[in-house]
Amino acid sequence: MGTTGRIHYLIFFSHISDDHLSSDDSDDEGFLQEMSPRDKKVESLVSMGFREDEAKMVITRCGQDADISVLVESICRSVAAGASYYERDANSKEAGLDYCGSSVRRKRTKFMEKKKINGKRFGGGARESGGSIDGRHEESMPLPNPMAGFNLPGDRMSMDRLLPKEAIGRSFFYYENVALAPKGVWATISSFLYDIQPEFVDSKFFCAATRKRGYIHNLPTANRSPLIPLPPKTIHDAFPCTKQWWPSWDTRRHFNCIQTCTASSALTERIRAALANCEDPPSPEVQKYVFEQCKKWNLVWVGRYRVAPLEPEEIEFLLGFPKDHTRGISRTERYKSLGNSFQVHTVAYHLSVLREMFPDGMNVLSLFSGIGGAEIALHKLGIHMKTVVSVEISKVNRTILKAWWDQTQSGTLIEIADVKDITDDWLESTMRKIGGFDLVIGGSPCNNFTGSNRYHRDGLAGEHSFLFYHFPRILGCVKSVMQRMQS
Ligand code: SAH
Repeated sequence: MGTTGRIHYLIFFSHISDDHLSSDDSDDEGFLQEMSPRDKKVESLVSMGFREDEAKMVITRCGQDADISVLVESICRSVAAGASYYERDANSKEAGLDYCGSSVRRKRTKFMEKKKINGKRFGGGARESGGSIDGRHEESMPLPNPMAGFNLPGDRMSMDRLLPKEAIGRSFFYYENVALAPKGVWATISSFLYDIQPEFVDSKFFCAATRKRGYIHNLPTANRSPLIPLPPKTIHDAFPCTKQWWPSWDTRRHFNCIQTCTASSALTERIRAALANCEDPPSPEVQKYVFEQCKKWNLVWVGRYRVAPLEPEEIEFLLGFPKDHTRGISRTERYKSLGNSFQVHTVAYHLSVLREMFPDGMNVLSLFSGIGGAEIALHKLGIHMKTVVSVEISKVNRTILKAWWDQTQSGTLIEIADVKDITDDWLESTMRKIGGFDLVIGGSPCNNFTGSNRYHRDGLAGEHSFLFYHFPRILGCVKSVMQRMQS
């Protein structure tokens, strides 16, 4: 669009909202009265600057009764999810960047501003102060302390929470990511998932490792039950052999969050040398240095002056995976896959409510499956998985999941590599074949939320984290196909 066109568009846009359907501009009204309700909506969206085919598609997906604000939000979501295509396609880079970035954002922002001025709630979907598509949301979401979620095993809780109408019903969904994301990320994620409040939980309440995660889901929260037995909740209970070497000044009871990489042998040797060459007990400075390194790298005491990183099978145990689940791949890959995975007991506690609802088993769409934390949680709960469509880009992870599946399951596993390849048509035909999905579950990559390198901490707009947008895109499609299948 040239400069003049852009200015014209902005002036024009600033005068419209969905309210113009009932404006007293008699010319418009007369014209619109002759149109079907569907055409009126198309007309409104086109007048806001969206393309006609986009407008028609979103009305088909959301239904012609959907409020105009819901339609706008839905187009923005789809476009945000598809941004990767445009942004990475060298041939359409220019057009794509403008279309997916500034243009749609501008349309939505203008729309939101207008809605705010009119004092209306934004369609019951996203909150009025709204999430921005690029993750630079104004609001930051307060993290609870302690991070105990809506309830923990043993808590008494009879009431369930109220969910927005659009979020209820088939399919169930469950989304996970790191709790300590940059400012505004959780508010944005929530605004794309029916405005549901995240459930922030630290896995230290379920095992001996701290793992602070946020979960947005539409599952009931009352009458949950934990996997029995729960794993040991302190380092000493989990690894009693380390007790004899553990110095009193190392006061850790839990491991830090399990990372995707591990300490070098140079570091453990530096620690050994520092301790061997000082008095006993070590000076406060040496204690502080060693304690901080042990905490940072999750080192355990394995001998006099000797610390070592956790072995991959010890991490499997802490995170609730079967022994040797990741065995057979390189150590580096094992640490990476485990570092990214779910803590199985935590997730299983939330999913436990599904057991009674699906006594004959369920169909699951597992996005960003990794090494199968979700599948293992369901299996440990005794929930039969009739069909799992698992979407995971890493071949190594797919191989691990397939090997476990073949050994333990009788259902069907369909493995797909890339979420970007999941189209609406493919979803619909697959769902019709298998009878729909009962659960959509996944935690998208968090590479751009964590880490000390500020350059990469660019929130949802980051190279990996933008994949989040595929979750609401795919969930939206699954929900509308489920609706069509039920009607
Ligand atoms: N919950 C999983 C791990 C999720 S980590 C578990 O329990 O193991 C995020 C996962 O997304 C990683 O395994 C990563 O390989 C995968 N991933 C990254 N890009 C992807 C893409 N484009 N499509 C599908 N999966 C992707």
